[in-house]
Amino acid sequence: MDMELTKPRLQAKYGPYGGQFIPEVLMPAVQELEQAFLEAHQNAEFQQEFRRLLRDYVGRPTALTYAERLSKKLGGAQIYLKREDLAHTGAHKINNALGQGLLAKRMGKQRIVAETGAGQHGVASATVAALLDMECVVYMGTVDIERQQPNVQRMKLLGAKVHPVESGSRTLKDAVNEAIRDWVANVKDTHYLLGSALGPHPYPSMVREFQSVIGREARVQILEQAGCLPDVCIACVGGGSNAIGLFDAFQNDEAVKLIGVEAAGNGLHTGRHAARFGDQKMGRPGVLQGTYTYLLHDEDGQVMETHSISAGLDYAAVGPEHAYLHDSGRVEYTSADDEGVLDAFQLMASSEGILPALESSHAIAEVIRLAPQMSKDQIILVNVSGRGDKDLDTILKFIGGSL
Ligand SMILES: *Cc1c(COP(=O)(O)O)cnc(C)c1O
Repeated sequence: MDMELTKPRLQAKYGPYGGQFIPEVLMPAVQELEQAFLEAHQNAEFQQEFRRLLRDYVGRPTALTYAERLSKKLGGAQIYLKREDLAHTGAHKINNALGQGLLAKRMGKQRIVAETGAGQHGVASATVAALLDMECVVYMGTVDIERQQPNVQRMKLLGAKVHPVESGSRTLKDAVNEAIRDWVANVKDTHYLLGSALGPHPYPSMVREFQSVIGREARVQILEQAGCLPDVCIACVGGGSNAIGLFDAFQNDEAVKLIGVEAAGNGLHTGRHAARFGDQKMGRPGVLQGTYTYLLHDEDGQVMETHSISAGLDYAAVGPEHAYLHDSGRVEYTSADDEGVLDAFQLMASSEGILPALESSHAIAEVIRLAPQMSKDQIILVNVSGRGDKDLDTILKFIGGSL
């Protein structure tokens, strides 16, 4: 893999979005983090260690798989799967967790705090903490603890402390609040390992840089396998890290259409969803957890309670770069509802022998919608952000009876 030491593209703002909306006490911490990241990113030793572990520990590059049967069944575009489900711990989250873990170590921190929704980021953080011999506390809403039991047990086995969060809707947003509270209180020896391209600067740019390996690999692989760039790239969008990690390498290829898929939950009209761009009434710019971005909230500024069958997409805000890409029109954002997501999961399982995460199944639902409208010489590249083993309880609850 290339080893050029370029200056990272750290942006405090993406158009009007992003920034640092944080309490005064956290300013020194985010400034220290920005400096450390800038320095590490251009440091050959840091980059070598990061790339070595991505290869020898995470198992990168992850495969690009031509989905022959799925493509045939849908009867249109040729479909290629970027297999982040094959990364160690089962999702793309490990790329960012490893990058930030190495950075925290370099900064002399001994303790990591993290938030988690689906549990994937908690598992990735606990894994990296074990690998780098650091203490790890993971904040998790009790609703998510209930629906993601296997991941909770995994984190504990990895030596992390899982801290249940009872406030608010007891999901990801509330876990983030608690993690930030912990960080404020322990900032001297603690790094906040944020799990998506969210939060105050420098997190959105830093997480993008750590996840951009997905798109860099995929671009080389699709050129190798298909001989040309894809017509469309598709990824699900929770906070937006797997999507930005894929899109980044294709942003300047004007002919490549980029599509982000949000969670439509029970349907956009029901108000029970997490479609920040899809809900034209509730989804408007506002400030949440350190950043100015699209956010589901009412006229009084009350943040809406979101719903999705997948814990990883169940969040009221989206990363600020996506807000910018939405307004600029470079990325198109669509949504998939719970029902369509379960259908997509089943079609992928039965036709390709792959159990995708429910989050990733949102992207596949969009593939199912779009591929038949495309011609056989066109190409869709879809990011399978994670594997579905963690979701089996949820999935069986809905479709177990019909098996
Ligand atoms: C966490 C998660 C997501 C959503 O997070 P992004 O930051 O939007 O990528 C998507 N897929 C999987 C498998 C996840 O674990």
